[in-house]
Amino acid sequence: MESIQASKERQNQFMGIGAGIQAAGVALFLLSLLVGGNAPLFGFLIMIGMLIWGGVRSKVWLCGHCKNQLGSKEVRVCPSCHANLT
Ligand SMILES: [Zn+2]
Repeated sequence: MESIQASKERQNQFMGIGAGIQAAGVALFLLSLLVGGNAPLFGFLIMIGMLIWGGVRSKVWLCGHCKNQLGSKEVRVCPSCHANLT
């Protein structure tokens, strides 16, 4: 049986869960502005955290052979088509 060689492809998901996390972070900050007091300070820190978290979540790795989404960039063999990922 011949093994398939494929490379991993990195892809940004603009409409994925990452964008949702970032939007929620911005909404939370705007809400904290309405509350006033010390709230915007905490709202700002939470927003920054969620922007970074959302940025991490929005990057996905795909199998170059079948375009299956991989769990992480450490995956060596595609779970869908069993291609060797380099
Ligand atoms: Zn694959």
